[in-house]
Amino acid sequence: MTAIETRDLSIRFGHFAAVSGVSLAIAAGSRHALIGPNGAGKTTLVHALTGGVAASSGMILISGDDVTRLGESARVRRGLSRTYQINQLFRGLSVLDNVVLAVLERKQLTRVFWRRAAHDNATIEEAREHLAFVNLIAHADRPVHELPYGLQRLLEIAVALAARPRILVLDEPAAGVPAAQSEAIFERIHALPRDLTLLFVEHDMNLVFRFADRITVLVEGRIITEGTPAEISGNERVREVYLGR
Ligand code: ADP
Repeated sequence: MTAIETRDLSIRFGHFAAVSGVSLAIAAGSRHALIGPNGAGKTTLVHALTGGVAASSGMILISGDDVTRLGESARVRRGLSRTYQINQLFRGLSVLDNVVLAVLERKQLTRVFWRRAAHDNATIEEAREHLAFVNLIAHADRPVHELPYGLQRLLEIAVALAARPRILVLDEPAAGVPAAQSEAIFERIHALPRDLTLLFVEHDMNLVFRFADRITVLVEGRIITEGTPAEISGNERVREVYLGR
């Protein structure tokens, strides 16, 4: 079963094609990394998958259904959730409330229930479970702006999980985080349920080779190769183009 797929997808900004003719099929339950040098089109491709950037041509399918013309929230309802490279948390709210809001959003109760959320035990219980998964329970009552950056990135994962996704897209989940903490972030990503399909963009090749089971290499908007970590690490073209050797 294919969780998410693109067929001959192109994304143009004026005359410039950031993504050109990309056909990508991500198997359900796989941990798929998207790599490539800066400017390769990784973020643009991820935005197109999640509905933040319109496809210029080609198709995007979730579980076999054409979602090319659907917006971001319609794709979330179809099981696709994402974290953002740039922090999009509510910095003035507590850690717990950020997750509570995300749970309420999934339940489509945000407007009605936000004021009453403090009394909604089921929502709070669920939010605490997501926080426990990313080891943030001890920080539940702190305002987000007090949290070290690495822990904010973990919180983003908890917020994304509150949508109960079947497919989770992570755009550089450890970007800007010290090496020791990126390990902790990837260890949590690794611990996610095996039936959750993961697509992640990551620069650190050690993390990619350890945590991905398939890798797609994008250069100048096109896929140059795809394979297992062993295949990619032994690929001459990847070494030349991407690793610069
Ligand atoms: P990556 O994530 O691999 O570094 P990006 O997807 O961010 O690459 O960018 C791919 C190319 O598309 C870059 O040359 C970038 O300048 C260009 N690009 C991205 N977004 C836009 C935009 N909104 N308008 C014009 N050009 C863009």
